[in-house]
Amino acid sequence: MESKIKLVKGDITKMETDAIVNAANSSLLGGGGVDGAIHIAGGKAILDECIAIRNRQGGCRTGEAVITTGGRLKAKYVIHTVGPVWNGGKSGEEELLKSAYANSMKLAVKNGIETIAFPNISTGIYHFPKDKAAKIAIGTVSDFLAENDIIKEVIFVCFDEENYKFYDDILR
Ligand code: ADP
Repeated sequence: MESKIKLVKGDITKMETDAIVNAANSSLLGGGGVDGAIHIAGGKAILDECIAIRNRQGGCRTGEAVITTGGRLKAKYVIHTVGPVWNGGKSGEEELLKSAYANSMKLAVKNGIETIAFPNISTGIYHFPKDKAAKIAIGTVSDFLAENDIIKEVIFVCFDEENYKFYDDILR
């Protein structure tokens, strides 16, 4: 059987999956890195919904996920999840990163999403070691796919060569 997991190198804002995942921060108000790129490409509708969620529940905790429109993106939805800031590894970072991937997948299923693209959550400004993060991302998504039939395709979108290499090594 062909794997439901694919790997591409590039810009997640260009993906034509049902949903793309954003490596957001707890404020949900946007930031740098992939977060900034998604808000710029998707437009104001995404930020408006983020602000509404923030007013309702006060942002998004680390390891959790929320969903908005994709605005002008090709993707219909953006799932915003907050990965942990790497702080040496003794502050539950690995469990929190796992939760960020698992809660994004759960929210996708709840919204009938069949195809989803993930960036390399926490490996930019949040400094999570890329090799460890790749293992957690692929492991968590694989476990989820083994238990659940709704999601047909998961694409890991690597922006930098180093991440791409780690994913490629594991998936081969
Ligand atoms: P975090 O705060 O979770 O570390 P960053 O946005 O700083 O989030 O980085 C997460 C990952 O997103 C990094 O590996 C970075 O290379 C990658 N990235 C940055 N811009 C894009 C983009 N347009 N598409 C996909 N990935 C991106």
